[in-house]
Amino acid sequence: LGGITKEPPMHIVHVAVEMAPIAKVGGLGDVVTSLSRAVKDLGHNVDIILPKYDCLNLSNVKYFQFHRSYSWGGTEIKVWFGKVEGLPVYFLEPQNGLFSAGCIYGCRNDGQRFGFFCHAALEFLLQSGFHPDILHCHDWSSAPVAWLFKEHYMHYGLSKARVVFTIHNLEFGAQLIGKAMLYSDKATTVSPTYSREVSGNPAIASHLQKFYGILNGIDPDIWDPYNDKFIPVSYTSDNVVEGKRAAKEALQQKLGLKRADLPMVGIITRLTHQKGIHLIKHAIWRTLERNGQVVLLGSAPDPRIQNDFVNLANQLHSSHGDRARLCLTYDEPLSHLIYAGSDFILVPSIFEPCGLTQLTAMRYGSIPVVRKTGGLHDTVFDVDHDKERARAFGLEPNGFNFDGADTAGVDYALNRAISAWYDGRDWFNFLCKGVMEQDWSWNRPALDYMELYRAARK
Ligand code: ADP
Repeated sequence: LGGITKEPPMHIVHVAVEMAPIAKVGGLGDVVTSLSRAVKDLGHNVDIILPKYDCLNLSNVKYFQFHRSYSWGGTEIKVWFGKVEGLPVYFLEPQNGLFSAGCIYGCRNDGQRFGFFCHAALEFLLQSGFHPDILHCHDWSSAPVAWLFKEHYMHYGLSKARVVFTIHNLEFGAQLIGKAMLYSDKATTVSPTYSREVSGNPAIASHLQKFYGILNGIDPDIWDPYNDKFIPVSYTSDNVVEGKRAAKEALQQKLGLKRADLPMVGIITRLTHQKGIHLIKHAIWRTLERNGQVVLLGSAPDPRIQNDFVNLANQLHSSHGDRARLCLTYDEPLSHLIYAGSDFILVPSIFEPCGLTQLTAMRYGSIPVVRKTGGLHDTVFDVDHDKERARAFGLEPNGFNFDGADTAGVDYALNRAISAWYDGRDWFNFLCKGVMEQDWSWNRPALDYMELYRAARK
């Protein structure tokens, strides 16, 4: 970044309902933390406002302390301060108990809870004399910031601020999202391909002039095979073969799988329709048929789907107990070991706004096998078909992909991937080394966001 001229620092405030690692449900939580860190590293000031859930993982909050309290919305709101991954976070704790529900999402009144939070966050900024340049809100859950700001707060002390709204997943709360699209100064979604895929959606179609697709990155410090307490041997692209071999053995041992040199397919996902459940199941069976091993780490918010997978797990563990393991929970440490110990990470999503798992996979030298949709299309370049497309981005091909949403599609990509593993280990190892050296961090996307923030202020 040495060549970039110094600009005056901007002050960005994120109003968000998820933040990794203390209150993370999905990619949104990762993005709030890692985008903020990247922007801060460019020399800007970033604050985050988060509900103080009773289920917060406070062991990852440093200097946690009472900050102040104020009255709003018929209740007292206590504000706590702490640092998470080096970022200043203000936690709002309304004394009406709205965030003492034991969970982040899943209450019948989620809309009301988060609407209250957004309004309380703006009130906090006003009463505390903050003058942010950018208010950045995310998905339906903090979408109300866009219109509450324009309707109430813009005319008072917060007049300097501009609102940037990011859609992480249009599936959720499209109605609220449309309103935030209207009221925000700039809007983004998390990959160029997804931005095109959703451009016809009525919530978005009339706002294309202020709508941009900016790819997510991953935080290279949080995901770092050279410095990861959850894997047995530190590695970089220089000793990727050795590092991954040790991780695979540790994974096999931990999960009670046969310790053998077999192709390992890892799947780390929420188990929902979006993620291609029928394709995931098919891929498990195909991998076993090809004498591979498969580990799935995932949990389903829908109890019927969870049950279905519990049954599948029972079936697989008795028929292929030495080669298949389904871990149907949320387990961050185990996810690290799977990223490191797998040869392939499978992401057969029906749609995928950006997707972080394929990026994390590559950081750990695992080869992504993905369906060509949204951000998966923008980040995974097929070794057989996408040489030119990759080179247009200055990259080498880095994985296997497929088009259709049927089992033939998965087979097409997965069979080529597993065959490559069996037939050309030197080539395969070279591919692993290559993907580790690709930069999927926030280096580039953070600059794109800064450009967007600046454009929002014009
Ligand atoms: P989404 O936000 O749609 O769930 P992303 O790919 O954007 O999908 O982000 C998913 C994130 O959650 C990744 O960091 C992934 O490693 C993590 N993750 C998903 N399921 C699990 C799980 N069961 N245990 C641990 N981490 C998980």
